[in-house]
Amino acid sequence: MTENSEEFDVIVVGAGFGGPIAAKICADAGLKTLLIERSKNIGDKVISGLTIPFYGFLFGPSFIRDGNPPFERPADGIVNYIIKDINTSDIDIDDSLRVPKPIGPIIAFGYNTYCKPFCEWEVKKAVEAGVVVKTSTTVIDIIKEDGFIKGIITDSDEKISSKMVIDAEGSQGLLAIKAGIREKYPPETISLADTYDYELPKPLIDRIFGHSVKMCWGWDEQKVAPPLGYGNGLMVWPYRESLHFMQDQCLSINHNKVPNISKLFEEYHNNITTKLSWWKDQVAPKAKLRARMWEGFEIYVGLDNRLRNMPNYTDGMILIGDAAGLESTELCDGVPAAWFSAEIAAKVTIEAIKLNNTSKSFLKKYDDKIKSHPIIQWSISGRNRYDLREAQIEHDEVKLKKYIHNGWGLGSLTHFTTPLLKILFSSIKNDTSIITKWIKMYFRYYQNWIYETYEFSERTNKSKILSKRPEFGQLLFTSLLTMIDAGLKIVSRFKRLYSNTLISLSEFANPFISKVLPKFEPIFLRLIRLFEPFLNKLSKKLIVFIERANPKIFSAA
Ligand SMILES: Cc1cc2nc3c(=O)[nH]c(=O)nc-3n(C[C@H](O)[C@H](O)[C@H](O)COP(=O)(O)OP(=O)(O)OC[C@H]3O[C@@H](n4cnc5c(N)ncnc54)[C@H](O)[C@@H]3O)c2cc1C
Repeated sequence: MTENSEEFDVIVVGAGFGGPIAAKICADAGLKTLLIERSKNIGDKVISGLTIPFYGFLFGPSFIRDGNPPFERPADGIVNYIIKDINTSDIDIDDSLRVPKPIGPIIAFGYNTYCKPFCEWEVKKAVEAGVVVKTSTTVIDIIKEDGFIKGIITDSDEKISSKMVIDAEGSQGLLAIKAGIREKYPPETISLADTYDYELPKPLIDRIFGHSVKMCWGWDEQKVAPPLGYGNGLMVWPYRESLHFMQDQCLSINHNKVPNISKLFEEYHNNITTKLSWWKDQVAPKAKLRARMWEGFEIYVGLDNRLRNMPNYTDGMILIGDAAGLESTELCDGVPAAWFSAEIAAKVTIEAIKLNNTSKSFLKKYDDKIKSHPIIQWSISGRNRYDLREAQIEHDEVKLKKYIHNGWGLGSLTHFTTPLLKILFSSIKNDTSIITKWIKMYFRYYQNWIYETYEFSERTNKSKILSKRPEFGQLLFTSLLTMIDAGLKIVSRFKRLYSNTLISLSEFANPFISKVLPKFEPIFLRLIRLFEPFLNKLSKKLIVFIERANPKIFSAA
């Protein structure tokens, strides 16, 4: 075994979505930080693409919100296909969850992203902050001294010492088990995903999908996705010039028989692509298969109290993201939780090192913050996918539609409004200018999407219409933001009073929405339909404004 003479303050294991964030924040605070990744190229081992929900960008690390991360397409809605009979096309649609125009898709509910460029961008930011990155290196064990974790051991038998280790290994991490703080998860909590990546011309994607993610649900015999474990379903994500088709299933071993998942996935994929009319008639003739990938992740961990209460820290070590079991139970959305937990872990680590106290009792702060984070706790305890499986087994159409609506339709407001308002009000309490930062972020991201570039310097040459800048629109936009900032600054004098009241009142938001939504929703959807032509025109105008505007007015600086 070789001993690396260099000692680090912090070693972060894993350069997926969470690791580089924790590393960058530690390095920004002056800590000597090493980021270790087992794959040769950053992002190689992370699944190929996903939708990162808006709350990750709004409430996550400020450098992402204020930066220009690469993404593929803003997403502004979900279209759910409820397949009762695929052969006769007896299919109901729930498309209630969409951001109405003209603000959608500029105000997006998520950003569809390829993992590789996104993680590369994060690592670039970490390196700029001074992080040392080591790729093609697998951490195989931890160094323990007097009960404290004091570094790691790599697959080339190298020992590297540190004051703290942040474990960002993802869902298949082993270090926490080696450190004796977590157990292996049971098979029912592991979902296996089968993903197809198709190339498709952009105009066709614009026409078939627009900015919506499509999801398919159905009875087992409809063969939408293999009925193993919980949450039979299929998602199709549109990117700029490609589509991701993903079926996933929790593993379950019935009557001691191990199902042939590979065969089942194949069968279900063929069934959907040859029978579902929009795929068969519109997508299939032009789609070109580029890749097929398999990946596993833990999805029901949050619902199992025993697993949920497994520790996230020990003396000298903190777990973040998927390694800490923070993947959402509904849609396997785990990037926001990886970002939130990375930021919290880094801040606690900085404090621990400063105070020279990396003990369990000090690091408990981390767990307390994770447990009181409204969005993390909401996302790891959602029950809709679990309940949906029960509805499928009972063949109860009313229940099936209810759970789809509550999970991936407007019904999600009945359980999401309280955590959203809580984090919203506490963010405003901490920084009154955050609202204008959010608005600029949305507009800047949308301009990036139009121009397909993420750095202003690259874009200037591309812009063909510099001479037609909308001077009045720009003035209006900047004046509006100035007014919002000024207004909030005045109100901020009383912020302690009103923000604490508002945060407390948020508790009542979910029950209130549950009461009013059944009456309000049909009116809301009818109004949107009624005003659609007008809203579409307005949306086009807004998009032309963003296209022509000087990028500087959307800049965070
Ligand atoms: C099929 C699928 C679809 C998903 N869809 C979505 C979605 O739509 N939206 C969403 O928000 N989330 C989604 N997720 C979840 C999301 O990918 C994860 O929650 C997120 O990547 C977690 O980030 P992380 O940093 O904890 O782990 P990861 O991003 O998985 O990163 C872990 C990194 O650690 C490295 N590593 C592992 N072990 C070691 C070791 N011993 N030594 C060195 N390096 C190591 C890995 O190579 C990897 O780069 C999806 C996941 C899957 C599998």
